[in-house]
Amino acid sequence: MIKEQTIERLKEIVGPQGWLSDPDDTEPYTRDWRRKWPGKTALVLRPATTGELAEAVRVCAEDGLPMVPQSGNTGLVGGSGPRETGDDVVISLNRMTAIRAIDPLNNTITVEAGCILADIQQAAADADRLYPLSLAAEGSCRIGGNLSTNAGGTNVLRYGNAKEHVLGLEVVLPDGRIWNGLRGLRKDNTGYDIKQLFLGSEGTLGIITAAVLKLWPRPRQTVTAWLGVPHAHAAVEVLNRAQAGTGGQVTGFEYMVADALALTFDKLPQNRSPLAGEHAGCVLMEATSGQDGDGLRAALEALLAEVMEAGLVDDAVIAESETQARALWQIREDMPEAQIHAGGGLKHDVAVPVSRVAEFLDQATRTVQELAPDARIITFGHLGDGNLHFNQCAATLEALPDLLAKEREINDAVESLAVGMAGSFSAEHGVGRLRMRQMTRYKSDVERDLMTTVKQALDPQGLLNPGKVVLLDDPQS
Ligand SMILES: Cc1cc2nc3c(=O)[nH]c(=O)nc-3n(C[C@H](O)[C@H](O)[C@H](O)COP(=O)(O)OP(=O)(O)OC[C@H]3O[C@@H](n4cnc5c(N)ncnc54)[C@H](O)[C@@H]3O)c2cc1C
Repeated sequence: MIKEQTIERLKEIVGPQGWLSDPDDTEPYTRDWRRKWPGKTALVLRPATTGELAEAVRVCAEDGLPMVPQSGNTGLVGGSGPRETGDDVVISLNRMTAIRAIDPLNNTITVEAGCILADIQQAAADADRLYPLSLAAEGSCRIGGNLSTNAGGTNVLRYGNAKEHVLGLEVVLPDGRIWNGLRGLRKDNTGYDIKQLFLGSEGTLGIITAAVLKLWPRPRQTVTAWLGVPHAHAAVEVLNRAQAGTGGQVTGFEYMVADALALTFDKLPQNRSPLAGEHAGCVLMEATSGQDGDGLRAALEALLAEVMEAGLVDDAVIAESETQARALWQIREDMPEAQIHAGGGLKHDVAVPVSRVAEFLDQATRTVQELAPDARIITFGHLGDGNLHFNQCAATLEALPDLLAKEREINDAVESLAVGMAGSFSAEHGVGRLRMRQMTRYKSDVERDLMTTVKQALDPQGLLNPGKVVLLDDPQS
């Protein structure tokens, strides 16, 4: 239990607007998006400045209080919530939402960690620039969480993951010191690149309070197409030809199997299939160009004619307006929600080299069909990055308990297969609480030992986001 005296000191630091303790008010901060890890807390702190946040962390460190950093709370692996013990203080960034600076000539934007991702995209667009990180939760996730999970999303193919957008960071360390590394430099070889430690570390090493992000020229042409393909092998070949045919201008390449689409059209009928007829899978492809004109559309039309002639694509449609393009993206973005409407099920976020995606899908599908013959395989994801959400849901709600009972067996089979193909058991969502077991199972002793050493050096008391990603008392390390 947190001492009353400490609670009072913390409340004083952040002021009356900066804390919540009534269970009705703290409840949204203790439940995760998947409703899988309900937790408890006596106190949610919502500091307004880096100074307040640092002072609060210093007091928590002095009193040995565990802290859980939280931004938009849309994480899918149980990393952003307090534990059930009620011992953790939640430190929310949701009042630190300033865009501190925008420098169009340097192509950078300096933002506080609580900025909503969509607001950063808009601020960049207002300055005639692009901030390319884009994911279905962009209206509610915040950049502190995006950087701490090294979020991926739909534009990784062209612009990389979140950590590749970062030039500088400001971080509050677990003892309350502030590291100001808010540099906007493309070149800076002055020792260790400290910011990389915090990017993707899921709040276990420090609390990100601000960042300098790279911006890009705003696209002048965007072409969005929907393709029906006979199998995933064909989709990979189309990607290869599209990159060659457009000079590497493909920004998004999403793949969805027929059953994932059927589920989405069934559960969220405001979505309609853009193509007539049945296709084993569909691809949502987007390409952009910084040049005016319609050269990109002409290149993609030529490509579509070529791949249809080669039997790689059965049918295709190109969006004629932004509204049509948005409707195509909506189908893809609604897939996680459709699975919730079907009662949930099993989720995987694996990655393999792009060249092995089709082989992985063939083998993983066979494996799951053997383990759970009645399960529906709901595969969708970022094929262009080799990252697939190879999910399963039950054929009926009555069959769901049987499928869930096989969760560990199916997870192990699917993840081992991905890791065995030089892949990853967690491509973009992170480790959080969900994948602690896999860290022990798949990471080498050397890698886990290095991670524990870093954690020990920065957070020797183990106060930042305990129980997530790395355990200081990991018996195996
Ligand atoms: C519908 C939907 C679609 C999604 N699609 C994608 C996708 O395409 N790609 C993808 O990568 N993810 C996706 N996600 C997962 C999620 O949106 C991302 O992980 C996102 O980056 C989390 O941001 P957040 O602000 O919600 O972070 P939170 O959930 O608040 O936190 C996530 C983790 O970061 C830590 N953290 C948060 N803020 C800070 C901080 N300031 N300093 C240090 N640590 C911090 C937390 O402790 C936690 O461990 C999706 C989620 C949903 C609900």
